[in-house]
Amino acid sequence: MGKIHNFGAGPAKLPEEVYDILKDEFTNFDGTGISIMETSHRTPTYFKLNKEVQDVVRNLMNVPSNYKILFLSGGGQGQFAGVPLNLISRTGTADYLVTGAWSAKAAKEAKKYGKVNMVLPPTDRYVDIPDQSTWNLDPNASYVYICTNETIHGVEFDSIPDTKGVPLVADMSSNFMSKKVDVSKFGVIYGGAQKNIGTAGVVLVIVREDLLNQALPICPSILDWTVNAKADSILNTPPMFAILVMGRVLQWIVKKGGLDKMAELATKKSSLIYDIIEESNGFYYAPVAKAVRSKMNIPFRIGSPTGDDALEKEFLKGAEALNLIQLKGHRDVGGIRASTYNAVTLEEVQTLANYMKEFYKKHA
Ligand code: PMP
Repeated sequence: MGKIHNFGAGPAKLPEEVYDILKDEFTNFDGTGISIMETSHRTPTYFKLNKEVQDVVRNLMNVPSNYKILFLSGGGQGQFAGVPLNLISRTGTADYLVTGAWSAKAAKEAKKYGKVNMVLPPTDRYVDIPDQSTWNLDPNASYVYICTNETIHGVEFDSIPDTKGVPLVADMSSNFMSKKVDVSKFGVIYGGAQKNIGTAGVVLVIVREDLLNQALPICPSILDWTVNAKADSILNTPPMFAILVMGRVLQWIVKKGGLDKMAELATKKSSLIYDIIEESNGFYYAPVAKAVRSKMNIPFRIGSPTGDDALEKEFLKGAEALNLIQLKGHRDVGGIRASTYNAVTLEEVQTLANYMKEFYKKHA
C-alpha cells in the first residue's frame, strides 16, 4: 500500500514511535501480563499511570500548582455543557467569543444554563478575529470563553486576550500542546485528545482551584470538576486506554524537544502550505486573515474564492493516489483542509506541498 500521509482533522495521526511503544505494552502493561484495558482502575497499576500522565501534562505545560489536572469523558462537547454548569453560577452570565463553528456550538449549549453575552458581532463567515478594542466584554461575566483554534474554519488566536480579571476559559482541542502557553493567564483550559494529544475518549481539563466549588446544583457529577478533582479523576471507570495513549503522546513530545520544538515545526509546516497558497496568484485561496491563520488546520479553495468543484475533486483524487489522505474540507465549508498536527512530519507536509505545486503547474 505504501506509506500513508494522514492530514485528517481528527481523529488525527498519532506519532509512529507512539504506536511502537503501545504495541509492546498492548497486552502486557507495565509488566502485569495483562492489558490496561482489562486492569481495574482501583489498582496501584492504574494509580501510577494516572499520576504519570498528570505529571507529564504538568511538566510539559508548566502548569502552576494551584491548578488541577483532570481526565474526563464526554468529549469536547461534554465540556460545552461542563463549562457553564461549573462556572456560570457566580453571576448567571458568561461572555462568548464566537470565532467559528465550535465556539458557536459551545455558546448555544451554554444558553441552556444561563445568559450568554456575544462579545463579537454575529457572522456566518469566520475568517478573522476583530480587534480587542471593539469587543463587547461584560465586566459582570462569570467567565470569558474562547476556542483558541477553530478546527473547521482554521481561525487561531495569535495571542491570549486580556479579560481584565474575568476568568478566561479556552477550548484548545485542536491546538493543545502545539506551542507554549502561559497557563496562569487562564481559568480553565480543556480539549479532547483526539487531534493533537491522543485518541478519542478522554478530555484533558486544567482548572484553577479557586474556580471549583461553584457548580450549579443540577450539574451531573460526571461533569462536575470539583467532584472529579476530589476523586483524582477516578470517580467512575476512566477511559484508561485513551489516557495511556495521551500519556505516551505527551512523553513523545517531551522526547522530541517539548512545546517550543512543536511550535517551531508547526510554523515551518504551515508556512510551507500558506506560502504556496500566497504565491499561486489566486489559484489557491485561503479565506482566513493572515494574523489569525491556524498553524494546525489549513482550509483553502482551489480555482476561485468559492472553489471550483471539478478542480477540487481532481485535487483530492490525485492526492489520494499519492496516499495523501483526509484532505477534504469540512462539509460546512467545503474545499480542502490540511491538518498539520504535531504528529504530521515536516517531510509529509513537504510531500503535500510538492503535490500542490505540481497541481498548480498543471492547471493554472
Ligand atoms: N472543540 C473543537 C475545537 C473541536 O475541533 C471539536 C471536535 N472536532 C470539539 C470541540 C468537539 O469534540 P468532541 O467531538 O470530542 O465532542
